[in-house]
Amino acid sequence: MKIFVKQKTYITPHLLRITFKGNALAEFPADAQGGYIKLLFESDHRAKPEMRTYTIRHIDHQQQTIEVDFVAHGDQGLASRWAQTCTIGSALEIRGPGPRKLANPQADWYFFIGDLSSLPAINVNLEHLQENAVGYVMIVVDNDSDIHPVNTPKGVVVEWIKTSNNAENRAKTVMDTVAKKNWLNGDCAVWLAGEFTMVKHLKTYFRDHRKIEKQNAYYSSYWKQGLTEPDHKKEKQTVMLSDA
Ligand SMILES: Cc1cc2nc3c(=O)[nH]c(=O)nc-3n(C[C@H](O)[C@H](O)[C@H](O)COP(=O)(O)OP(=O)(O)OC[C@H]3O[C@@H](n4cnc5c(N)ncnc54)[C@H](O)[C@@H]3O)c2cc1C
Repeated sequence: MKIFVKQKTYITPHLLRITFKGNALAEFPADAQGGYIKLLFESDHRAKPEMRTYTIRHIDHQQQTIEVDFVAHGDQGLASRWAQTCTIGSALEIRGPGPRKLANPQADWYFFIGDLSSLPAINVNLEHLQENAVGYVMIVVDNDSDIHPVNTPKGVVVEWIKTSNNAENRAKTVMDTVAKKNWLNGDCAVWLAGEFTMVKHLKTYFRDHRKIEKQNAYYSSYWKQGLTEPDHKKEKQTVMLSDA
């Protein structure tokens, strides 16, 4: 299935929204928003294109368009480089979509933690919460310039955590901030995705210390500092930080 760039808009200096158009998008399921897709990128070094995983931030079946928010993290990554340099009309192969992961709607309150890569999926989650939902959203950024408004129900408080771009330091800063949060009453649904090291530490905290039950937890490593997606995928399978 081919999709074509219709529009490019920088939401912040490191978050780039691309609107794609393609006939096949009309056939995507009604609940595709928040689902993941695989995009195929040509590489100079390999005969076959390489896949990268992204989230459908919005879908418009009638217009046959989707919006995808790319972290513009420089020219090291195939996808990041492509997103930054593509022009209107540039084409990509797309596979999917896979199912979206929504926090358990039966929970009493919510704890979302992520970074710019998982913010699209967090935003879709926030759009599905009841108006009277309560909880926390923590988003980790390396730069103040990436802080921007996020829509939540009134009772869900958004906090931006600025950290250094070192994986261990980032994980430690987030861990300290999370541990200081006032733990609310009732069942908490945790939704956590982002850099591998941060997800690994926080998963252990929520599972072992906060005793979050399986039906109330979603933990997924979305990328790992220093590894390309294919190598990260191998590593996360060994420590069970998969998307399941
Ligand atoms: C279910 C799922 C949904 C996802 N949805 C999104 C999404 O909507 N938007 C999005 O931007 N990402 C999303 N990701 C993460 C994205 O797949 C990875 O970041 C991917 O590695 C990007 O590919 P790349 O070609 O740019 O970099 P790669 O070639 O994979 O990696 C090259 C280098 O860039 C570094 N790198 C990779 N990602 C980042 C990053 N986010 N910040 C800083 N450095 C990075 C790597 O550590 C490596 O050193 C999702 C991942 C999963 C599993």
